[in-house]
Amino acid sequence: MARLIDSGPGCPTPTPLRAATAAEARGLAYDDDVKAKTDHLYPLVNDFITPMEWPAVAPLVAAINDLKAEKNAVILAHNYMTPDIFRLVGDFRGDSLQLAREAAEVDADIIVQAGVHFMAETSKILAPSKTVLISSLEAGCSLASSITGADVRLIKERYPDYPVVTYVNTTADVKAECHITCTSSNAAQVVEAIAREWDTDTVVLVPDQYLAKNVAAQTDIRIITWPGACEVHELFSADDVDALREAHPGVVILAHPECPPDVLEAADFAGSTAALANYVKDESPAKVVLLTECSMSDNVATENPGVDFVRPCNLCPHMKQITLENILDCLIEMKHEVTIEESVRVRAKQAIDAMLALPKMENPLAFETGLKPMEIEVFSPS
Ligand code: SF4
Repeated sequence: MARLIDSGPGCPTPTPLRAATAAEARGLAYDDDVKAKTDHLYPLVNDFITPMEWPAVAPLVAAINDLKAEKNAVILAHNYMTPDIFRLVGDFRGDSLQLAREAAEVDADIIVQAGVHFMAETSKILAPSKTVLISSLEAGCSLASSITGADVRLIKERYPDYPVVTYVNTTADVKAECHITCTSSNAAQVVEAIAREWDTDTVVLVPDQYLAKNVAAQTDIRIITWPGACEVHELFSADDVDALREAHPGVVILAHPECPPDVLEAADFAGSTAALANYVKDESPAKVVLLTECSMSDNVATENPGVDFVRPCNLCPHMKQITLENILDCLIEMKHEVTIEESVRVRAKQAIDAMLALPKMENPLAFETGLKPMEIEVFSPS
């Protein structure tokens, strides 16, 4: 839809056309009511949204926040959401584990998952009586789509004596077939705990081969993995680390453990998104780079204004399917509801509960850097 802009009385030039903003297309104006509801929010995002852009964004923010109150809904915003979603409409913010815990405890009728589909499934697994919505069905994940429940059954047939740990970045079908889940905050703890419980020195950890290799370097447990990878983190290389050090002398380099092992070897610190955020907050490095998804750096930067961020940018195309516009539409139309067959949900919940039953760590585990990459067995179905 296009809108005519009035060029002013007596203006001889043809009236230019301007496309309606997403807010205008939904009948929303930047009026006094919206200003009163949103003026105090602008400072949270003024590094990312210019004053000229704000009138197009604020009506969407106000409408979403009004609808949340009206429908008793909350938004769980993952660290990889853009700052407008993360800071302005997210009620709970964090990594997969933090959001899963909030989903289980939150007092709300509706959860809107501002994250990807496996995260919305995890919320539904833990909060079956709540309506869980995801605003885009395109928000998938290369890790989650790399493996199926049938694949895990094959692994268990091949290795009946080894427990199977799944990273939370998997579908409910996969979780239902595994013995326990883990996140990048607790992967080594989970692997060691399940090995003790099964009295074995070998554990299968799926589907991220890089996370598995990085965990293997931190523990004496032998790990077998699956050939999955995060399409965002696998793009980083040790050469990138070298180039960053050369271009930005003194920069502190932090890496996520979904990056290949040679990246962790070359980095200064490694850990989950929560661990990386904590590091920046606690250590306040003068200049830092986060080798992870772009929006994560943006969101950590808003909370650490004294730190200079270098931002090599690898965007997750799946996370970026989630927008203020489709969050608003999904709340208005109550679409797209996430459902899981009950027998699958119950078995998937057992795997998550097994993880949540482990002693709660005070802080997410850091991965030691500087270690030589380890070769481990990668499962082959043939
Ligand atoms: S960043 Fe990687 S692991 Fe996370 S949703 Fe995107 S593809 Fe999946």
